[in-house]
Amino acid sequence: MIREDLRNIAIIAHVDHGKTTLVDELLKQSGTFRQNEQMDERAMDKNDLEKERGITILAKNTAVHYNDAKINILDTPGHADFGGEVERILKMVDGVLLVVDAYEGCMPQTRFVLKKALEQNLTPVVVVNKIDRDMTRPKEVVDEVLDLFIELGANEEQLDFPVLYTSAIKGTASTSHENQDHDMTLVFDKIMDHVPAPLDTSDESLQCQVTMLEYDDYLGRIAVGRVSRGIIENGQRVALVKRDGGVKKCRISKMYGYLGLQKQEISQAAAGDVIALAGLEDVNVGETVCPEDNPEPLPAIRIDEPTLQMTF
Ligand code: GDP
Repeated sequence: MIREDLRNIAIIAHVDHGKTTLVDELLKQSGTFRQNEQMDERAMDKNDLEKERGITILAKNTAVHYNDAKINILDTPGHADFGGEVERILKMVDGVLLVVDAYEGCMPQTRFVLKKALEQNLTPVVVVNKIDRDMTRPKEVVDEVLDLFIELGANEEQLDFPVLYTSAIKGTASTSHENQDHDMTLVFDKIMDHVPAPLDTSDESLQCQVTMLEYDDYLGRIAVGRVSRGIIENGQRVALVKRDGGVKKCRISKMYGYLGLQKQEISQAAAGDVIALAGLEDVNVGETVCPEDNPEPLPAIRIDEPTLQMTF
């Protein structure tokens, strides 16, 4: 059984190739924003440190509804200092959108994030963006992308990547570089067609590895992860398996999914869902949420970037 109504993707790109603009436009065109709702902040650029450095470092999760499906869109930092965070985010998804500037082509961070995605066995949908700009060279850029895939050891399925040409700024898309005859729903259609749906393993024992932390002034640490097996309910008592193998008993005090730029309270989540959990005191990245009576941790994940050394 698969969850045909759910897709989890990450968006990967070299800085400035248009990731943020693309996600803002996808949010708008999916109708996830009500018409009178103002987007006063850009979707993925909220963090001050990020703004200071001009790079995205603390990833932001968003989600849209498209037809009857939900698509979770996870941002990734492009910078090589955050390789561990990129890897962890890529473990939560089943596909990636690789955004490449139609003029600049492949750049160092394109290579860095694509390498990570290919290593995780993910099949990218390639988005050649800024097609509205002067002096674009879309055909060459696609050739460059293909060469990079080959150089990075992509398998046959990965080499068969679909390509979309977009102007995120104008909100248009096409499968041809010669026209822009669609709106951004074409991007959703490609995601639905090419990104595998998560497996439905609701009948198995719960496992959810914490891959990111958020912080809330009232609730404290919020653990973010993808449910990889089973189901989880708000209020449930769980075992949190620490990185050293120790087990801490906790109770989920609030549970959220993502919608648009917001978190939304939910009462239950199942395998495939990306969720945020409150109530897990002193929780850390890499720990696994399990049923109280079956504390079975997931394998260790890479944790090495400076953001995680922040003390809350
Ligand atoms: P990010 O660093 O990948 O998140 O890139 P941004 O979304 O912040 O975009 C970087 C710059 O490129 C901004 O000035 C955007 O307005 C511009 N930009 C993004 N998409 C397009 C596009 O489709 N066409 C043009 N001409 N500019 C774009």
